[in-house]
Amino acid sequence: MDMDIIKLKHITKQYDDGFVALKDINLTIESGKFYSLLGPSGSGKSTILRIIAGFSQPTEGKVYFDGKDITDLDAAKRHINTVFQNYALFPHLNVFENVAFGLKIKKKPMNEIKPAVKDALHMVRLDGYANREISELSGGQQQRVAIARAIVNEPKVLLLDESLSALDKRLRKDMQFELRAIQKKLGITFIFVTHDQEEALSMSDEIFVLNDGKIQQSGSPVAIYDEPVNDFVARFIGDSNILPGRMIKDYEVEFANNKFKCADGGIKPNEKVEVVIRPEDLDIVDPEKGKLVVTAQTQLFLGDHFEIKAIDANENEWLIHSTNGVKLGQRIGLFFDPEDIHVMRLNESQEDFDARIEKYEGDENED
Ligand code: ADP
Ligand code: MG
Repeated sequence: MDMDIIKLKHITKQYDDGFVALKDINLTIESGKFYSLLGPSGSGKSTILRIIAGFSQPTEGKVYFDGKDITDLDAAKRHINTVFQNYALFPHLNVFENVAFGLKIKKKPMNEIKPAVKDALHMVRLDGYANREISELSGGQQQRVAIARAIVNEPKVLLLDESLSALDKRLRKDMQFELRAIQKKLGITFIFVTHDQEEALSMSDEIFVLNDGKIQQSGSPVAIYDEPVNDFVARFIGDSNILPGRMIKDYEVEFANNKFKCADGGIKPNEKVEVVIRPEDLDIVDPEKGKLVVTAQTQLFLGDHFEIKAIDANENEWLIHSTNGVKLGQRIGLFFDPEDIHVMRLNESQEDFDARIEKYEGDENED
């Protein structure tokens, strides 16, 4: 059996008013994994979900499911279910009737519907809630009913569009764990849409980062966090220090008026680059031991760390996460390892990035 369950090939979507919401989207979804589509509002996330679900037609390109072209297939005939942001529950039906709805439409007999609904409610930890009215449920419980209503149909793929956005922070964290547990237990593919980078990082096997109707980067949470391919991804995923720089040669880069050893290569000498250093990779040391010396300007205590803003001799602002606080106005040294410096070429696409890394790491192994 093919591991790839969904493929989008060269998908473009132009809405009736002429707006192009998706530009040549290519992506592959494997069965049994948890994916996130992550991007700011308006980046095209819901448009992609609607095209996968069959609620919207692409202007160009093809949608494949299990290797078959389903671009023109009716939404109802796809083995795909969607959980919407507003849950879209039927307020006049109780929990049982909401969850049973899809099976009744399919004219399943009651002796099949009952155990299926019971299983689905058990999966979302709503045993004993079958006879409740929707209006009697909390937001989190309504969310669970919406998920039960989708999984009772045994879809091969579940699409979730900003499904946790309406919940408060605490409940949201709980539901993140639960959703992940449900996905593991069912073993089906989840495609989860969110604009919240932390949510995507903590839940996903793989993330597609979207901006402006284009996939900016795809990969595991760790890969995307550690090696953003461009400044959009670096800024959008986590906090970053991003500075203009210049490549000296392989393993050496200049920024903030200093030359530093780094771990990047395959970029031609003198090329202008951008350098990313994550705030948690900066260690505060005595000024004479620092690779850079900065002056602390502001400090916020965030519960588990301090967020410090500091300025170097060239007026670059530095964001530092540290478990220890500093005195404002204090001169502090910043220490970081060569591997903590991530060099990005300007406007490099993910294909070029991947090709460069592959070639470069290949060269390295030959030595
Ligand atoms: P996201 O889910 O990432 O917030 P959407 O996929 O909903 O983004 O929308 C992407 C872009 O397409 C937005 O700029 C939005 O305004 C536009 N858009 C969405 N639906 C329509 C429509 N029916 N007609 C015209 N433009 C639309
Ligand atoms: Mg949306």
